[in-house]
Amino acid sequence: MTLSELEKMMDSCVRCSKCKFLPGIMVKSKEFSSICPSIDRYNFHAYSGGGKVIMANALHKGRIEFTEEMLDVLYRCTNCGACEVVCKFFFELEPNEIIHELRVAAVEAGVGPMSNHKKFIEQVDSVHNPYGEPTDKRTSWLTDDIELDERSDTIFFAGCTASYRREEIAKATVRILNAAKEGFKMLGPDEYCCGSPVYRVGDKKRALKIMQDNVERFKAQGIKRIITSCAGCYNMLKVEYPRFVETDFEVIHTSQLMESLISEGRLKLTNEVPLKVTYHDPCHLGRMAEPYEPWEGELVEVITLVYMHDPPKPIRRGANGVYDAPRNVLKLIPGIELVEMERIREYAYCCGAGAGVKSQYPDFALSTSGKRIEEAESTGATALVSTCPFCSTNFKDKLKELDDPMEFYDLTELVLKSIGGSE
Ligand code: SF4
Ligand code: SF4
Repeated sequence: MTLSELEKMMDSCVRCSKCKFLPGIMVKSKEFSSICPSIDRYNFHAYSGGGKVIMANALHKGRIEFTEEMLDVLYRCTNCGACEVVCKFFFELEPNEIIHELRVAAVEAGVGPMSNHKKFIEQVDSVHNPYGEPTDKRTSWLTDDIELDERSDTIFFAGCTASYRREEIAKATVRILNAAKEGFKMLGPDEYCCGSPVYRVGDKKRALKIMQDNVERFKAQGIKRIITSCAGCYNMLKVEYPRFVETDFEVIHTSQLMESLISEGRLKLTNEVPLKVTYHDPCHLGRMAEPYEPWEGELVEVITLVYMHDPPKPIRRGANGVYDAPRNVLKLIPGIELVEMERIREYAYCCGAGAGVKSQYPDFALSTSGKRIEEAESTGATALVSTCPFCSTNFKDKLKELDDPMEFYDLTELVLKSIGGSE
């Protein structure tokens, strides 16, 4: 949607500031009652979801123009979607969508994204990953003993971060798939970035081209099913791609696949893993992973500045993300005790890395992961577990900076331990 199409929605923001906090009935403590990493760090209203809605509306109506300061506020946001889930608890606004469209407008006006974003976009263009790593090294972590089935119509799409920065997740995933005799192949150097980093910083035109090219590549290879261990890739392939391009493949996250394989008896969790853990819901596997339901209609003004969708629009509240599969798998690992943080599922607090924040504002990314680690430690857990390589990097970086004894694991690493495997 364009800012023009979102105008009525932007007009109906009542500036209530509810998008800065958990809905009251979800609050368990003052300490962990906030929901927006950007407002937590920078305090001024402009940094909140609602603040950026006002900014977008003012720009759209020609009352302000893009300035360096405004772009800086706009991009100090992880596009985590928490503001949107909370707003929809009370109203039907989509601040996260509006923030994204404001970024799209910034790119179209030639002023966005930010300098480090431009660098990683150039690298996605040239070598198909934002890290600038050589294409032929994408599967350099893959060892000879891993069995691939070149006739399979299933691929393991490792994603750029697991391929080049968090190889332990990619290695654990393929070992688990082999242990369960789940046939799959890999695209190797023909696996290109899913487009998430490009899309999230607002370069929509380029992201759409990436989506189209990837879908054509999957079709040419006869791919019917995509397994991914990355929340960002899952969100793009499962939720965003079908909004813009025709897809005919199934997308499954490793947490969902492992849950099925365990229940079918194909993965046997035999080894004790004595750990008290807490689970972090990645935004892109949680609230942002809820698919869009097709809807056509309009916002009708029922009384001045009060709008209703006609016909009623299916509201994407974030409750239908992937929440149970990772928890169910954790509970089935012998020796694991799962304790929950206060902010979970669609009300989870972001790790702080997404939507270009890690590359452009690394101090902001780390201060947010630090807040989430405090919440994790308040549960008494000694290990933090998640299901996203990008969250993994940001948590590991912060734990290292703090010299914190808390351990971090991707879910695949714990499953691998329990089935008796090692990298
Ligand atoms: S975006 Fe929603 S929750 Fe935030 S200030 Fe506006 S109406 Fe309130
Ligand atoms: S998307 Fe997340 S970081 Fe950005 S304004 Fe909304 S809650 Fe804050």
